Amino acid sequence: MAVHQVVLATRNSHKLAELQRILIDCGVEVELVPPADDAPDVAETESTFAGNALLKARAVSAHSGLPAIADDSGLCVDALNGMPGVLSARWSGRHGDDVANLNLLLGQIADVPTSRRGAQFVCAAALVVPDAESGVAIERVVEGVVEGHLVEAPIGTHGFGYDPVFVPDGHDITTAQMQPADKDAISHRGKALQALAPILAELLSLPDH
Ligand code: IMP
Repeated sequence: MAVHQVVLATRNSHKLAELQRILIDCGVEVELVPPADDAPDVAETESTFAGNALLKARAVSAHSGLPAIADDSGLCVDALNGMPGVLSARWSGRHGDDVANLNLLLGQIADVPTSRRGAQFVCAAALVVPDAESGVAIERVVEGVVEGHLVEAPIGTHGFGYDPVFVPDGHDITTAQMQPADKDAISHRGKALQALAPILAELLSLPDH
């Protein structure tokens, strides 16, 4: 039987490889493919991770006619009432400027005592499966969360974004000090994608996994 193709709405080859590994570990046999070169770039205009993930999965599925998966993630800081949240990648104004985003955040919470420096990494993963017969796509969204707290100054060289200041609960090092595989094992993205794997298998009616 032909293996189902599923589009992952990212041009980041690391994310594609990570999800393919997770699906294999969960026994879900699908071939993940990147979006076509002419697939639309979708602006993340929603106010929730789930909303943005769905926007991207819908657009890529509509363009390809295939099932599509998309994710959206960020850091939610208790002392900032959950911000930067969906604005994590552009908190300092420029999209993707990790150093400026991190420094701005550290300045904003500089006076916040250790007891109130709680934060979470959150990831929403959306799956859209088109149904040619009914014309109505099936949509599912799941979330993965890692609880932790923020330290006062960056430590560690692995990872990206806010990793150098985030210490997950149950650990005493930042996610930037962890080996990548150790971070993957507890990450918000890993948790969301692991939750999505059996849903994908069910909706595509794959053999028992
Ligand atoms: P996106 O989901 O790829 O759009 O990521 C949004 C932003 O959230 C990133 O640019 C980072 O600033 C932050 N972020 C999401 N996941 C992580 C993580 O695992 N470590 C550090 N920062 C993250």
